[in-house]
Amino acid sequence: MTQTGPGGSPAGSGSAAPDRPSALRLVWIYPDLLSTYGDRGNLIMLERRARLRGIAVESVQVNSDQAVPAQGDIYLLGGGEDLPQVLAARRLRADGGLAAAAARGAVVFAVCAGYQVLGSVFGGAEGEPVDGLEILDISSGRGDRRGVGEVVADVDPGLGVDRLTGFENHQGVTRLGPSARPLARVVHGVGNGDGTEGAYAGRVLGTYLHGPALVRNPSLADLLLTWATGPLAALAEDEESWTRRLRAERLAAMSA
Ligand code: GLN
Repeated sequence: MTQTGPGGSPAGSGSAAPDRPSALRLVWIYPDLLSTYGDRGNLIMLERRARLRGIAVESVQVNSDQAVPAQGDIYLLGGGEDLPQVLAARRLRADGGLAAAAARGAVVFAVCAGYQVLGSVFGGAEGEPVDGLEILDISSGRGDRRGVGEVVADVDPGLGVDRLTGFENHQGVTRLGPSARPLARVVHGVGNGDGTEGAYAGRVLGTYLHGPALVRNPSLADLLLTWATGPLAALAEDEESWTRRLRAERLAAMSA
């Protein structure tokens, strides 16, 4: 594991402290295989919004030749091209750490290829079925054409998250099984391919949205932080203004 982020270690601590339960532990899974379209921004956004509330954060990135740590609080996966996605699924299945973390109630947030990998099966580079992790009750295959472009979607009202804005680029189409709920209803774009976008069950949530998704949708970032740490204080107005401008710009571009 590689330490990332300047605020990961307590100031003045020269000794290794492998177990600091007071810090929120963010785990960025396989950036060497799954990290397209700036998906790392999701990690940066969670770090920032936690620290602004005085929550200590420890971030680790786990490459595909490393073991997935058991003790993370929020695990993040990004999008990827077809072959790296197949490799990531194989390695994550063999490792077992992510499935174990999800089973004990850790938060998992996955984008596009990472989202598909959480399901039971997805379409490989030639459309062949590839086994996923069975962490989320979804199955994916390859659609007739790629979904590319901006997405706008209205989130399941039970989640209390603002309208989603994002960017998609995927061939996959996704069906939800009975134990997963759609994250949102598509207003513009493709999403899962049936008018819904993304899926969640318990504290596991996946989406087709890049952007990065959590930068464009801070209330989704806060939902994940709430699942991991409990209720959050509101942020000061000036901390929110830049992301509000980004959202307003992207949403206005779609309604023009
Ligand atoms: N390879 C997958 C697909 O095309 C995921 C693409 C992505 O992560 N952007 O459906």
